[in-house]
Amino acid sequence: NGLQVAIDGPASAGKSTVAKLVAKQFNYIYCDTGAMYRAVTLKTIRSGISLDNEKEISAIVRNSKITFAPDENGQKVFIDGDEITQDIRSENVTNSVSAVAAIADVRKQLSAQQQEIAKDGGIVMDGRDIGTAVLPRAEVKIFLIASVEERAKRRYKENIQKGINTPLEELQLEIEARDYKDSHRKISPLTKADDATEIDTTALSIEKVVSEIAKVINL
Ligand code: C5P
Repeated sequence: NGLQVAIDGPASAGKSTVAKLVAKQFNYIYCDTGAMYRAVTLKTIRSGISLDNEKEISAIVRNSKITFAPDENGQKVFIDGDEITQDIRSENVTNSVSAVAAIADVRKQLSAQQQEIAKDGGIVMDGRDIGTAVLPRAEVKIFLIASVEERAKRRYKENIQKGINTPLEELQLEIEARDYKDSHRKISPLTKADDATEIDTTALSIEKVVSEIAKVINL
């Protein structure tokens, strides 16, 4: 059937890049839970709903359908059938998502959907609370970290490829602000599970991180 592999860690630690490659190597499904929080945030913004309107945002989650479709670059993301793969990566969504992710009922609903997606195993799921809250019994738990300078640099390079030129210092501040909010919210804050294997990717190549995770899976 395959195992449940949970990959958590702070923003821009390389989770989705390596999670996709690990999923490919083991022929597992890949699920990016951050994309689900981003999809809800995008729809909230587009609906003109205020980020502190918990009731309306919960209703958005209840009345929307978030779906994924595999793609050569990982996956496409849809909400109510509309493709939002690129739109959920905007600065506006990135800077607003932590507020939406702090709403208890939003987490409750999305976690239930994530548990349903993962129930048969054979899955690599990345996020902030997968090993601690969504899949506490996952056979494999990885916690990826990297220095904030390195994470800002990686984001900077990704942005340049997309034609976006946000200054490095600004990216670093954004990453720090988001990590702070994600680690200080009341419900399932970002934290390493006691039984997770921590990997510091600051000085490691993508291939090396993938092979380290593969080793843990094959234990
Ligand atoms: O992984 P990504 O950076 O796309 O996640 C976007 C945001 O979604 C995070 O900053 C966090 O606020 C939220 N998130 C979460 N729990 C998860 C995954 C993401 O709260 N499991």
